[in-house]
Amino acid sequence: MTSRSIAGPEIERLIQLLAKLPGLGPRSARRAALHLIKKKDQLLVPLAEAMGVAVANVGLCSVCGTVDTKDPCTICSDPRRDASTIVVVEDVADLWALERAAALNCRYHVLGGTLSPLDGIGPDDLNIAGLVDRVSQGGVSEVILAVNATVEGQTTAHFVTDRLAGFDVKVTRLAHGVPVGGELDYLDEGTLAQALKARTAF
Ligand code: ZN
Repeated sequence: MTSRSIAGPEIERLIQLLAKLPGLGPRSARRAALHLIKKKDQLLVPLAEAMGVAVANVGLCSVCGTVDTKDPCTICSDPRRDASTIVVVEDVADLWALERAAALNCRYHVLGGTLSPLDGIGPDDLNIAGLVDRVSQGGVSEVILAVNATVEGQTTAHFVTDRLAGFDVKVTRLAHGVPVGGELDYLDEGTLAQALKARTAF
């Protein structure tokens, strides 16, 4: 039996693209596509417009490496945030998770991954030089390493600590609450807030 299309190629393409989103398989992608099409004016059109604006403007912050539509980003250019505390994360998802916990009024630095020799990811592939740069400019009193409690995360934390050893800055790490092997993005706000408050010297 040859496979038959259920709709024109434009809709098939919409379903195929939606199916690539995290958490959506082919079945939920079809449901999402149908929902978008039925709610054309309330959802499909505004979503297409928002995506167009994002495509035109989104990029990486030249200071911290997060994604935003302006550079420096919303966080880096917010004068109400304490610039003397930098929380180092592996990924933007971790930054967003920590912001949901709302435990600190701080700045961030996104490494863009972890050291992983097996995958050929070395220090130059991560945004570590940018962090050293920020610290070397002064005004930073504490760097909090909020990396995942994985082998790669801890290896990266040790490397970053070594690179910051020559500067007058306190380097701390997350303590209680983060399970071994745990990923920050999956923790609830209470656990994250606890882990931040109970941070220890690295
Ligand atoms: Zn930034």
